[in-house]
Amino acid sequence: MSIGVAVLGSTGSIGTAALRVLARQRERFRVVALTAHASADVLERQARETGATFLGLVQGNAGRRPRLAVGPDCLIEGATHPDVQIVVNAIVGAAGLPATLAALRAGKRVALANKETLVMAGELVLCAAREGRGEIVPIDSEHSAVLQCMASAGGRALRRLILTASGGPFRGWTPERVARATVEEALNHPTWRMGPKITVDSATLANKALEVIEGHFLFGLPFDGIEVVLHPQSVIHALTEFADGSVLAQLGFPSMELPILYALTHPERLPDDGVRRFDPVAASPLTFEPLVSGMFPAFDLGVAAGRMGGTGAAVFNAANEVAVKAFLTGRVRFGAIGETIEAVLQAHEIGPAKALEEVLAADRWARERAEARCS
Ligand code: NAD
Ligand code: MG
Repeated sequence: MSIGVAVLGSTGSIGTAALRVLARQRERFRVVALTAHASADVLERQARETGATFLGLVQGNAGRRPRLAVGPDCLIEGATHPDVQIVVNAIVGAAGLPATLAALRAGKRVALANKETLVMAGELVLCAAREGRGEIVPIDSEHSAVLQCMASAGGRALRRLILTASGGPFRGWTPERVARATVEEALNHPTWRMGPKITVDSATLANKALEVIEGHFLFGLPFDGIEVVLHPQSVIHALTEFADGSVLAQLGFPSMELPILYALTHPERLPDDGVRRFDPVAASPLTFEPLVSGMFPAFDLGVAAGRMGGTGAAVFNAANEVAVKAFLTGRVRFGAIGETIEAVLQAHEIGPAKALEEVLAADRWARERAEARCS
């Protein structure tokens, strides 16, 4: 029996990579459900190619497409579809949260690329997984690397986690030069081709702060146990240290298809020839640099917000989402992203984030504050 898969956000960078992986693994998996934000035509084409029977479009109208479910609830419908065992959540931003919660409560495996979900509502997401006997398996390459190292070590606890960061396009630039970087410069990532939001997050290093918080929730490590090192080649995805001081790492040329496949099959591995074979000589040299505090304000702010606990991370995430959109649409300078996050966090009074309403209220509050600063 093949395993039913839903791909939420199937038209994006991770979504299309997931469909490429699934197309090579037709014996084991079948695509049941696909959702997109507004690209009805791409969705229709993907449905013809994959044979998906459930199609959801968040915005738009069904027109002459009787199969199409329209409106934000289509995400939950796709995520809880009875024929689906694995939900690939490749939605960008906070919009992915209801689907993650619903899928976990319905006992599904969530292959999670949508890290914003875990950052804004980590406690709630873990609780939904426990209650519904669902499972969260990360797609993010760093966290996939950690999971693979841990699985190889028989599930033993980590003493320390070192996440690698490419440093983005502005590594080595002066803070003054970075503050007036253009959209084109910010979208020119040195090692990864990704959607626009995460590409900007990789330039501010807000992405790495999101990943530190993601790692805290996924692996139960205190913030003091998670470090970040710059590694411009993006070949080593994470370094994991165990009780005896031994360090295991996972390596590969940058490609999201490997972590996507692993999220579908963990803890098993399936034969797959889709990604470039590793070649240590071609990958050389592998270098590391410290992440100097103060160089990337959005990173420092994000980790500090994560350490605050409660609604801190949700507020950081929401302010960042609004500021990144404002930057991408030409409303603010690059430097305003960090400034907006800082101002919103400073004005925020941390509260508990144990109930969905608490998280959503903090998210709304932060968005309004950030919008006001960016307009
Ligand atoms: P993308 O912009 O390429 O794709 C986003 C997808 O989400 C699209 O299918 C879009 O239709 C859908 N979407 C957008 N807004 C939506 C909304 N309001 N409601 C429902 N669907 C919506 O983004 P991406 O680069 O594929 O990233 C997706 C997620 O994966 C992000 O959380 C990102 O941080 C994470 N991620 C991406 C990569 C990568 O290599 N691209 C790597 C690691 C993690
Ligand atoms: Mg990552």
